[in-house]
Amino acid sequence: MTRLVVLTGAGISAESGVPTFRGPDGLWEGHRIEDVATPEAFERDPHTVLRFYDERRRALHGVEPNPAHTALARLERAIGADLLIVTQNVDDLHERAGTRNLVHMHGELRRAQCLSCGARPAWDADLAPRPACPVCGERMLRPDVVWFGEMPYELDRIEQAVVAADVFVSIGTSGAVYPAAGYVALAAAFGARTVELNLESSDALIPFDDARTGPASTLVPAWVDEVMRAGA
Ligand code: NAD
Repeated sequence: MTRLVVLTGAGISAESGVPTFRGPDGLWEGHRIEDVATPEAFERDPHTVLRFYDERRRALHGVEPNPAHTALARLERAIGADLLIVTQNVDDLHERAGTRNLVHMHGELRRAQCLSCGARPAWDADLAPRPACPVCGERMLRPDVVWFGEMPYELDRIEQAVVAADVFVSIGTSGAVYPAAGYVALAAAFGARTVELNLESSDALIPFDDARTGPASTLVPAWVDEVMRAGA
């Protein structure tokens, strides 16, 4: 069987109405990255940071998976554990589309992390009012998202899958955030065919074997159809 690793970024959720990271103005929803996505920002102004993620979490109620998410879920139903999706996204659109074999390497909006006891409970309410941790009772919850300067989740599992992959596909990611941006070179070094599906060519470390430009909602279902026809 062909083993596939699919890396997704903010671009796959753009057509669902979730804005990407770097808008044309270099801001994320009107905020500078260093004001909302670093541990230093949280230390300096926890209320602003908690409110920013509370707004992002609430916005998830108004969006739905798009055909790119559902096509990847369809591929998983067809080939099972030979497909691993590694997402940099903190939204929950892959799982809502039906994907199960999924790593949220940058964490999840709908999960909190307790700075006192380390618990990571599923979380859907606002964190700015400083609610109590359901495990230890301390009021030290933060969003369970990985900020710049922090270690992404499950790196060993991801790297093992990338080096073992026959095909590595990057969808809707700018290639600016490491270590995710390095996976294409790692996959290629271990012999994988590399494919990019993006609105425009990204700043990838090495050229992809196959780079297709266009919206994810059309490119991804078409690519999934090809893979299924080839009987991956
Ligand atoms: P990015 O914003 O840096 O880049 C987005 C990429 O998507 C660009 O290359 C752009 O060309 C492409 N793109 C935009 N619209 C597209 C479309 N319709 N179809 C296909 N491609 C499209 O995003 P990134 O590389 O994922 O940056 C990583 C950081 O952004 C992560 O840490 C992530 O946690 C955070 N983030 C996540 C979300 C989310 O969860 N949906 C949203 C914003 C930011």
